[in-house]
Amino acid sequence: MEIVIEDLNVIYHPGTPFAKQALTDINLRVASGSFVALLGATGSGKSTLIQTVAGLIKPTSGQLRIGNQVITPKSKQLSELRRLVGVAFQYPEHQLFEETVEKDIAFGPRQQGLTEEQVAERVEEAMCWVGLPPSLKDRSPLALSGGQMRRVAIAGILAMRPQVLILDEPTAGLDPRGQREMMDMVGRLHREQGLTVLLVTHQMEEAARYAEQLVILSEGRIALTGTPREVFGNEQALSRLKLDVPEITKFIMALNRNLDPPLPLTLFSVEE
Ligand code: ADP
Repeated sequence: MEIVIEDLNVIYHPGTPFAKQALTDINLRVASGSFVALLGATGSGKSTLIQTVAGLIKPTSGQLRIGNQVITPKSKQLSELRRLVGVAFQYPEHQLFEETVEKDIAFGPRQQGLTEEQVAERVEEAMCWVGLPPSLKDRSPLALSGGQMRRVAIAGILAMRPQVLILDEPTAGLDPRGQREMMDMVGRLHREQGLTVLLVTHQMEEAARYAEQLVILSEGRIALTGTPREVFGNEQALSRLKLDVPEITKFIMALNRNLDPPLPLTLFSVEE
Protein backbone atom coordinates (compact mmCIF):
# COMPACT_ATOMS: atom_id res chain seq x y z
CA MET A 1 0.00 0.00 0.00
CA GLU A 2 1.39 3.39 -1.03
CA ILE A 3 2.26 5.99 1.62
CA VAL A 4 2.31 9.66 0.63
CA ILE A 5 3.36 12.29 3.16
CA GLU A 6 2.91 15.95 2.21
CA ASP A 7 4.29 19.00 4.05
CA LEU A 8 4.01 17.17 7.36
CA ASN A 9 4.86 19.01 10.56
CA VAL A 10 4.54 17.57 14.04
CA ILE A 11 4.84 19.75 17.12
CA TYR A 12 4.57 18.26 20.61
CA HIS A 13 2.62 20.40 23.12
CA PRO A 14 1.93 23.17 20.59
CA GLY A 15 1.14 26.61 21.94
CA THR A 16 2.71 25.88 25.34
CA PRO A 17 6.14 26.80 26.72
CA PHE A 18 7.05 23.10 26.15
CA ALA A 19 6.32 23.21 22.42
CA LYS A 20 8.79 21.08 20.50
CA GLN A 21 8.88 20.78 16.72
CA ALA A 22 9.78 17.13 16.09
CA LEU A 23 9.16 16.96 12.33
CA THR A 24 9.48 19.79 9.81
CA ASP A 25 8.15 19.87 6.23
CA ILE A 26 8.35 16.13 5.60
CA ASN A 27 7.52 15.12 2.03
CA LEU A 28 7.91 11.46 1.26
CA ARG A 29 6.44 8.88 -1.07
CA VAL A 30 6.85 5.20 -0.26
CA ALA A 31 5.78 2.97 -3.14
CA SER A 32 3.44 0.10 -2.39
CA GLY A 33 5.33 -3.05 -1.48
CA SER A 34 8.69 -1.33 -1.04
CA PHE A 35 11.22 -1.71 1.76
CA VAL A 36 12.33 1.56 3.32
CA ALA A 37 14.96 2.08 6.00
CA LEU A 38 14.70 5.09 8.26
CA LEU A 39 18.04 6.25 9.64
CA GLY A 40 19.12 9.14 11.81
CA ALA A 41 20.67 10.06 15.12
CA THR A 42 18.72 9.88 18.39
CA GLY A 43 16.24 12.74 18.51
CA SER A 44 16.13 13.15 14.71
CA GLY A 45 12.40 12.31 14.57
CA LYS A 46 12.30 8.63 13.55
CA SER A 47 9.97 7.59 16.31
CA THR A 48 7.64 10.56 15.75
CA LEU A 49 7.48 9.75 12.04
CA ILE A 50 6.60 6.08 12.53
CA GLN A 51 3.99 6.94 15.16
CA THR A 52 2.41 9.42 12.75
CA VAL A 53 2.33 6.84 9.95
CA ALA A 54 0.80 4.34 12.40
CA GLY A 55 -1.99 6.76 13.36
CA LEU A 56 -0.79 7.18 16.94
CA ILE A 57 0.14 10.86 16.55
CA LYS A 58 -1.81 13.37 14.45
CA PRO A 59 -0.04 15.81 12.14
CA THR A 60 0.08 19.40 13.40
CA SER A 61 -0.06 20.48 9.76
CA GLY A 62 0.19 18.80 6.38
CA GLN A 63 -1.18 15.37 5.62
CA LEU A 64 -0.54 11.69 5.29
CA ARG A 65 -2.21 9.30 2.87
CA ILE A 66 -2.09 5.52 3.08
CA GLY A 67 -4.12 3.76 0.44
CA ASN A 68 -7.35 5.75 0.42
CA GLN A 69 -7.04 6.92 4.04
CA VAL A 70 -6.17 10.61 4.29
CA ILE A 71 -5.11 11.92 7.70
CA THR A 72 -4.98 15.67 8.36
CA PRO A 73 -4.85 17.66 11.62
CA LYS A 74 -8.66 17.65 11.53
CA SER A 75 -9.05 13.85 11.20
CA LYS A 76 -11.10 12.37 14.01
CA GLN A 77 -10.94 8.68 13.17
CA LEU A 78 -7.50 7.13 13.09
CA SER A 79 -8.71 3.59 13.79
CA GLU A 80 -8.91 2.61 10.11
CA LEU A 81 -5.30 3.72 9.62
CA ARG A 82 -4.24 1.71 12.67
CA ARG A 83 -5.83 -1.35 11.09
CA LEU A 84 -3.74 -0.93 7.95
CA VAL A 85 -0.45 -0.34 9.72
CA GLY A 86 1.16 -2.83 12.11
CA VAL A 87 3.95 -1.58 14.37
CA ALA A 88 6.49 -3.61 16.28
CA PHE A 89 8.03 -1.16 18.73
CA GLN A 90 11.44 -1.87 20.25
CA TYR A 91 11.49 -5.06 22.30
CA PRO A 92 7.89 -5.97 21.35
CA GLU A 93 8.21 -9.20 23.34
CA HIS A 94 7.82 -7.14 26.51
CA GLN A 95 4.14 -6.85 25.57
CA LEU A 96 3.51 -10.61 25.55
CA PHE A 97 1.15 -11.53 28.35
CA GLU A 98 -0.99 -14.60 27.48
CA GLU A 99 -0.32 -18.10 28.80
CA THR A 100 0.33 -19.61 25.40
CA VAL A 101 1.86 -18.56 22.10
CA GLU A 102 -1.43 -19.29 20.36
CA LYS A 103 -3.47 -17.05 22.68
CA ASP A 104 -0.99 -14.23 22.35
CA ILE A 105 -1.05 -14.27 18.55
CA ALA A 106 -4.85 -14.65 18.57
CA PHE A 107 -5.38 -11.58 20.75
CA GLY A 108 -5.43 -9.00 17.92
CA PRO A 109 -7.53 -10.91 15.37
CA ARG A 110 -9.99 -11.78 18.15
CA GLN A 111 -10.64 -8.04 18.60
CA GLN A 112 -11.51 -7.84 14.90
CA GLY A 113 -14.70 -9.84 15.33
CA LEU A 114 -13.58 -12.94 13.42
CA THR A 115 -14.95 -16.42 14.05
CA GLU A 116 -12.85 -18.82 16.15
CA GLU A 117 -12.10 -20.78 13.01
CA GLN A 118 -10.84 -17.68 11.22
CA VAL A 119 -8.77 -16.70 14.26
CA ALA A 120 -7.15 -20.16 14.32
CA GLU A 121 -6.36 -19.81 10.63
CA ARG A 122 -4.75 -16.40 11.21
CA VAL A 123 -2.61 -17.81 14.05
CA GLU A 124 -1.42 -20.75 11.97
CA GLU A 125 -0.62 -18.54 9.00
CA ALA A 126 1.21 -15.90 11.08
CA MET A 127 3.32 -18.55 12.86
CA CYS A 128 4.32 -19.92 9.49
CA TRP A 129 5.24 -16.44 8.16
CA VAL A 130 7.59 -15.77 11.07
CA GLY A 131 9.07 -19.25 10.95
CA LEU A 132 7.71 -20.59 14.25
CA PRO A 133 6.96 -24.33 14.21
CA PRO A 134 3.28 -25.20 15.00
CA SER A 135 4.52 -27.36 17.90
CA LEU A 136 5.22 -24.15 19.89
CA LYS A 137 1.53 -23.19 19.88
CA ASP A 138 0.75 -24.39 23.38
CA ARG A 139 4.01 -23.27 24.99
CA SER A 140 4.26 -20.25 27.25
CA PRO A 141 5.83 -17.41 25.24
CA LEU A 142 7.95 -16.63 28.28
CA ALA A 143 9.66 -20.03 28.01
CA LEU A 144 11.00 -19.27 24.52
CA SER A 145 14.33 -17.78 23.43
CA GLY A 146 14.58 -14.00 22.95
CA GLY A 147 14.45 -14.31 19.15
CA GLN A 148 11.45 -16.64 19.28
CA MET A 149 9.59 -14.37 21.70
CA ARG A 150 10.11 -11.49 19.31
CA ARG A 151 8.73 -13.62 16.47
CA VAL A 152 5.62 -14.35 18.54
CA ALA A 153 5.11 -10.61 19.06
CA ILE A 154 5.55 -9.93 15.33
CA ALA A 155 3.22 -12.83 14.46
CA GLY A 156 0.57 -11.18 16.66
CA ILE A 157 0.85 -8.06 14.52
CA LEU A 158 0.81 -9.98 11.22
CA ALA A 159 -2.25 -11.95 12.34
CA MET A 160 -4.19 -8.69 11.96
CA ARG A 161 -3.11 -8.66 8.31
CA PRO A 162 -1.70 -5.13 8.09
CA GLN A 163 -0.73 -3.70 4.69
CA VAL A 164 2.24 -1.81 6.11
CA LEU A 165 4.65 -3.23 8.68
CA ILE A 166 6.77 -0.89 10.78
CA LEU A 167 9.67 -2.37 12.70
CA ASP A 168 11.58 -0.28 15.22
CA GLU A 169 15.05 -1.77 15.66
CA PRO A 170 13.86 -5.38 15.31
CA THR A 171 17.37 -6.75 15.83
CA ALA A 172 18.14 -4.82 19.04
CA GLY A 173 19.54 -7.06 21.76
CA LEU A 174 19.78 -10.21 19.61
CA ASP A 175 23.06 -12.05 19.05
CA PRO A 176 24.59 -11.87 15.53
CA ARG A 177 22.89 -15.08 14.44
CA GLY A 178 19.54 -13.96 15.84
CA GLN A 179 19.97 -10.63 14.06
CA ARG A 180 20.62 -12.30 10.73
CA GLU A 181 17.68 -14.65 11.13
CA MET A 182 15.38 -11.78 12.10
CA MET A 183 16.36 -9.70 9.07
CA ASP A 184 16.06 -12.70 6.73
CA MET A 185 12.57 -13.22 8.10
CA VAL A 186 11.66 -9.56 7.51
CA GLY A 187 13.09 -9.75 3.98
CA ARG A 188 11.00 -12.84 3.29
CA LEU A 189 7.84 -11.20 4.62
CA HIS A 190 8.46 -8.27 2.33
CA ARG A 191 9.08 -10.43 -0.73
CA GLU A 192 6.47 -13.12 -0.19
CA GLN A 193 3.61 -11.22 1.45
CA GLY A 194 4.07 -8.01 -0.54
CA LEU A 195 4.11 -5.96 2.67
CA THR A 196 5.34 -2.39 2.59
CA VAL A 197 8.09 -2.39 5.22
CA LEU A 198 9.38 0.61 7.17
CA LEU A 199 12.46 -0.33 9.16
CA VAL A 200 13.99 1.93 11.78
CA THR A 201 17.59 0.99 12.30
CA HIS A 202 20.88 2.30 13.56
CA GLN A 203 22.74 -0.22 11.51
CA MET A 204 23.83 1.04 8.15
CA GLU A 205 24.75 -2.45 7.07
CA GLU A 206 21.27 -3.75 7.79
CA ALA A 207 19.78 -0.87 5.82
CA ALA A 208 22.15 -1.40 2.90
CA ARG A 209 21.50 -5.07 2.62
CA TYR A 210 17.70 -5.06 2.77
CA ALA A 211 16.21 -1.66 1.94
CA GLU A 212 15.33 -0.35 -1.51
CA GLN A 213 14.98 3.21 -0.28
CA LEU A 214 16.80 5.02 2.51
CA VAL A 215 15.45 8.01 4.37
CA ILE A 216 17.96 9.83 6.55
CA LEU A 217 16.44 12.18 9.10
CA SER A 218 18.35 14.96 10.77
CA GLU A 219 16.82 17.38 13.27
CA GLY A 220 13.30 16.56 12.17
CA ARG A 221 13.89 17.01 8.45
CA ILE A 222 14.61 14.59 5.65
CA ALA A 223 18.29 15.23 5.08
CA LEU A 224 18.68 12.72 2.28
CA THR A 225 16.60 10.07 0.56
CA GLY A 226 16.98 7.72 -2.38
CA THR A 227 18.19 4.25 -3.23
CA PRO A 228 21.24 3.15 -1.21
CA ARG A 229 23.32 3.86 -4.27
CA GLU A 230 21.94 7.37 -4.73
CA VAL A 231 22.37 8.20 -1.06
CA PHE A 232 25.91 6.95 -0.85
CA GLY A 233 26.81 8.46 -4.20
CA ASN A 234 25.88 11.89 -2.86
CA GLU A 235 29.16 12.73 -1.22
CA GLN A 236 28.37 16.39 -0.65
CA ALA A 237 25.06 15.82 1.09
CA LEU A 238 26.51 13.01 3.19
CA SER A 239 29.45 15.05 4.36
CA ARG A 240 27.02 17.73 5.55
CA LEU A 241 25.34 15.09 7.71
CA LYS A 242 28.51 14.46 9.69
CA LEU A 243 27.89 10.73 9.76
CA ASP A 244 30.32 8.45 11.42
CA VAL A 245 33.03 7.50 8.90
CA PRO A 246 33.63 3.90 10.10
CA GLU A 247 29.86 3.37 9.89
CA ILE A 248 29.78 4.68 6.32
CA THR A 249 32.72 2.53 5.33
CA LYS A 250 30.96 -0.54 6.70
CA PHE A 251 27.84 0.48 4.84
CA ILE A 252 29.60 0.83 1.51
CA MET A 253 31.33 -2.50 1.97
CA ALA A 254 27.96 -4.13 2.58
CA LEU A 255 26.45 -2.33 -0.36
CA ASN A 256 29.26 -3.29 -2.69
CA ARG A 257 28.42 -6.95 -2.35
CA ASN A 258 25.37 -6.20 -4.49
CA LEU A 259 26.71 -3.43 -6.71
CA ASP A 260 28.43 -3.60 -10.04
CA PRO A 261 30.48 -1.44 -10.39
CA PRO A 262 31.18 -1.00 -6.70
CA LEU A 263 31.29 2.38 -4.99
CA PRO A 264 34.82 3.55 -4.19
CA LEU A 265 35.66 3.20 -0.53
CA THR A 266 37.88 6.26 -0.62
CA LEU A 267 34.85 8.46 -1.25
CA PHE A 268 34.31 9.22 2.39
CA SER A 269 37.79 9.27 3.82
CA VAL A 270 38.11 12.33 6.03
CA GLU A 271 40.87 14.86 6.02
CA GLU A 272 41.98 15.51 9.55
P1 ADP B 1 14.18 9.54 17.43
O1 ADP B 1 13.16 8.47 17.37
O2 ADP B 1 14.91 9.75 16.13
O3 ADP B 1 15.12 9.40 18.57
P2 ADP B 1 11.98 11.24 18.34
O4 ADP B 1 10.93 11.23 17.29
O5 ADP B 1 11.78 10.40 19.54
O6 ADP B 1 13.41 10.94 17.66
O7 ADP B 1 12.17 12.73 18.85
C1 ADP B 1 12.23 13.87 17.99
C2 ADP B 1 12.28 15.14 18.85
O8 ADP B 1 11.03 15.30 19.54
C3 ADP B 1 13.36 15.08 19.93
O9 ADP B 1 13.88 16.38 20.09
C4 ADP B 1 12.59 14.66 21.17
O10 ADP B 1 13.20 15.16 22.34
C5 ADP B 1 11.23 15.30 20.94
N1 ADP B 1 10.12 14.52 21.56
C6 ADP B 1 9.84 13.21 21.36
N2 ADP B 1 8.74 12.84 22.04
C7 ADP B 1 8.31 13.94 22.70
C8 ADP B 1 7.23 14.22 23.59
N3 ADP B 1 6.34 13.28 23.93
N4 ADP B 1 7.11 15.47 24.06
C9 ADP B 1 8.00 16.43 23.72
N5 ADP B 1 9.03 16.26 22.89
C10 ADP B 1 9.20 15.03 22.38
